Amino acid sequence: GEGEGGGEEYLFKIVIIGDSAVGKSNLLSRYARNEFNPNSKATIGVEFQTQSMEIDGKEVKAQIWDTAGQERFRAVTSAYYRGAVGALIVYDISRRTTFDSVGRWLDELKIARMLVGNKCDLETIRDVSVEEGKSLAEAEGLFFMETSALDSTNVKKAFEIVIREIYNNVS
Ligand code: GDP
Ligand code: MG
Repeated sequence: GEGEGGGEEYLFKIVIIGDSAVGKSNLLSRYARNEFNPNSKATIGVEFQTQSMEIDGKEVKAQIWDTAGQERFRAVTSAYYRGAVGALIVYDISRRTTFDSVGRWLDELKIARMLVGNKCDLETIRDVSVEEGKSLAEAEGLFFMETSALDSTNVKKAFEIVIREIYNNVS
């Protein structure tokens, strides 16, 4: 829309979904505050964080929502998805069951854009190969990236690719 002074403003709602303990809250805290919590429990607290980036000289704001532990009870509500224009679907590369769940999460959300294999620092106990992540993403038409909220690998990139893609679709 048009802001003060006629400059365009963008605000996108993005949701982070995936099984419990894959690192969703830590990806968000790493991206928004550059923080990592090794002992994080189900909920870190806030519902969403707003993060700005500049694209084409314009300020693009992303309101990024975290499930706050609802995924444990399969209780992610439609209110959580309402208005969302992008999503990161996260699995844990060291736990195959979380990769097997990706399809179920995709069924719930038709706006999905980015598949995220988190905890890529856990190479020694890897249970899902990079190739498997890539080919699932290709089959489902998603972007793909392996990340680590712990050592920061690709966290910024993963969020910014989604935000840029949405921007490209609306601008
Ligand atoms: P959520 O339930 O999906 O929100 O997952 P959390 O963010 O609460 O993380 C679950 C656990 O995995 C916590 O003990 C985190 O410290 C740990 N964790 C999250 N991201 C990473 C990562 O990139 N690498 C490693 N090694 N551990 C991580
Ligand atoms: Mg969480």
